[in-house]
Amino acid sequence: MQIDLRSDTVTRPSTGMLKAMMSAEVGDDVFGDDPTVNALEKKCAEMFGMEQAVFCPSGTMTNQIAIKVHTQPGDELICEQSSHVYRYEGGGIAFNSGVSVRTVQGDRGRLNPEDIIPNINPDNAHFPKTQLVTIENTSNRGGGSCYSTATLKAISDICRKNKLKIHLDGARIFNALLVTGGNTLELGSLFDSISVCFSKGLGAPAGSVLIGNEKFIYKARRIRKVLGGGMRQSGIYASACIYALDNNIARLKEDHRRAKILESCLSNQPYVEKILPVETNIIIIHLQKTLETDTFVNYLAQNSLKAVSTGPQQVRFVTHLDFDDEQLAKACDILENFKKM
Ligand SMILES: *Cc1c(COP(=O)(O)O)cnc(C)c1O
Repeated sequence: MQIDLRSDTVTRPSTGMLKAMMSAEVGDDVFGDDPTVNALEKKCAEMFGMEQAVFCPSGTMTNQIAIKVHTQPGDELICEQSSHVYRYEGGGIAFNSGVSVRTVQGDRGRLNPEDIIPNINPDNAHFPKTQLVTIENTSNRGGGSCYSTATLKAISDICRKNKLKIHLDGARIFNALLVTGGNTLELGSLFDSISVCFSKGLGAPAGSVLIGNEKFIYKARRIRKVLGGGMRQSGIYASACIYALDNNIARLKEDHRRAKILESCLSNQPYVEKILPVETNIIIIHLQKTLETDTFVNYLAQNSLKAVSTGPQQVRFVTHLDFDDEQLAKACDILENFKKM
């Protein structure tokens, strides 16, 4: 039995999803002719109470388009130091937008509202113009941590009062909403743009939408084309995303439940120094200093359990829709047996 907990992106489309893909009505989306893509975009915009949406191949692209549309070269954006947009998008902020980044140390990937104002540059020719704040919910490097709705409101208020744009990297936004109980319409009212991923916990093979107002999405479509993200009969993919929205949101709580069980199993192991509090489907552990990370990760791999190291002494496990209770029991056994070596 192979158990792959490297990421929630490793899932394969289910039979139901494949069926939806096989029967999708399609057209050339660059001409605006793909009815399934149009339906997905409309569904997402309505879900978050925003005007429009644009379908893209990846979450990296939706984030990078948002940053490009919200800024001019030479501007600056503020984000938490462990943000995906800064650490895991290949330097795209500099490459695509010519924007500098003011990183701020927050709490497990979450930006503290009180850290925004001190990091806004004065309106003076010496300084880059602070233009945008990006928020990540759930935070990937923060171990799947979530913002409370109150904190998001506070951040949004500060941005609006200070004329800053605000973008939400909502790659795992449905994991967050299940835990914090906020709703999508309320969330939509707090941001100028939101990106959502379908290839994470929602289990689609690819796809992300960027949501915003009409003017923003008009510009976003142009940038999508420039980046090579204009796809043709992409309704094949969009149908998988619609299927995911209709069928795979509520079940994320199963991933959260299994993540909590893994957390309690790991918390008993002598080789684990600490575990970031598990809120959603990501578990990040810190290994005891005496244990080499590679030794541990290789032991897991030899026992058919895949996990990734995300830094010195750090190992990450992510639960997902192809990880069931039987695999969970086996994973706990494997983790349990390490100390006996
Ligand atoms: C996965 C992820 C993305 C987008 O990644 P892609 O692989 O390009 O779809 C963006 N933000 C966060 C927080 C992510 O975890």
